[in-house]
Amino acid sequence: MFEGLTGRLGDIFDRLTRRGALSEEDVGAALREVRIALLEADVALPVVKQFIAGVKEKAVGQEVLRSITPGQMVVKIVHDHLVEMLGSASEGINLEAAAPVPILMVGLQGSGKTTSTAKIALRLKTRERKKILMASLDTRRPAAQEQLKILGEQVQVATLPIIPGQQPVEIAKRAMQMGRQEGFDVVMLDTAGRLAIDDELMAEVAAVRDATKPVETLLVVDAMTGQDAVTVATNFQDRVGITGIVMTRIDGDARGGAALSMRQITGKPIKLLGVGEKVDALEAFHPDRIAGRILG
Ligand code: GDP
Repeated sequence: MFEGLTGRLGDIFDRLTRRGALSEEDVGAALREVRIALLEADVALPVVKQFIAGVKEKAVGQEVLRSITPGQMVVKIVHDHLVEMLGSASEGINLEAAAPVPILMVGLQGSGKTTSTAKIALRLKTRERKKILMASLDTRRPAAQEQLKILGEQVQVATLPIIPGQQPVEIAKRAMQMGRQEGFDVVMLDTAGRLAIDDELMAEVAAVRDATKPVETLLVVDAMTGQDAVTVATNFQDRVGITGIVMTRIDGDARGGAALSMRQITGKPIKLLGVGEKVDALEAFHPDRIAGRILG
């Protein structure tokens, strides 16, 4: 069973009765526990190292406040640094462009891309009163376009009529054309996924990007992805370019370390969290909540 960081650090600092500034030795002992907690939460090793170095710099030599124990002091420094690295503010979807604004959804198969497309469409429709058109560019899985159509009916958002045999770039162009002709504010393009990163997928997504010039390219990643999150995020960032991240299955028991890894590796904000299978199970990203979850 996982023991929370506060408990672990409490044990270490209980042995220390000294007051005054935090010594390098005290901080070193605490940071070994922080390192284990982050690795258990599936934060990627290079990111853990960078994090530890940052905390060490902040903590050593700090005066321990009278009102709290050295353990509580280190936990606070670690928590605040984590929130800072996760990105302090929750950023919304950027719609600052001439209508129809293209939004590209990318990610691996099964990450929750299609579901998140419908969730975001519903959110923009209800909260921002936007007229949305959704299109599935997944021509490999026969049921994919149908799945988006069904979700569209459920959230009452229009979907591009399906024309069998069309290729992703053709479908994307047709979606943009319909978007312009019929006065849509936003066109959401749900691209195909694969079980793993491959060149063909990346080339296909890059071709769609070039044809539509999306304002947002959102990478959808399952919170359970763990260490692989870095590979996924790096590849999509380098080959396609992303503007933000949607993390799904936060309702599961994943500790969410992937959020920190991806934020650090790509420098892009986590914009939204998927918190369930239902179409309204989508939340804004709050770094302090994820920080608490990562630290346990
Ligand atoms: P895609 O292949 O990336 O398009 O993935 P889908 O959108 O089809 O989602 C795959 C499965 O994950 C479906 O059964 C969804 O209902 C489920 N799913 C998507 N997002 C979430 C989420 O945030 N929480 C949970 N529990 N399930 C989700």
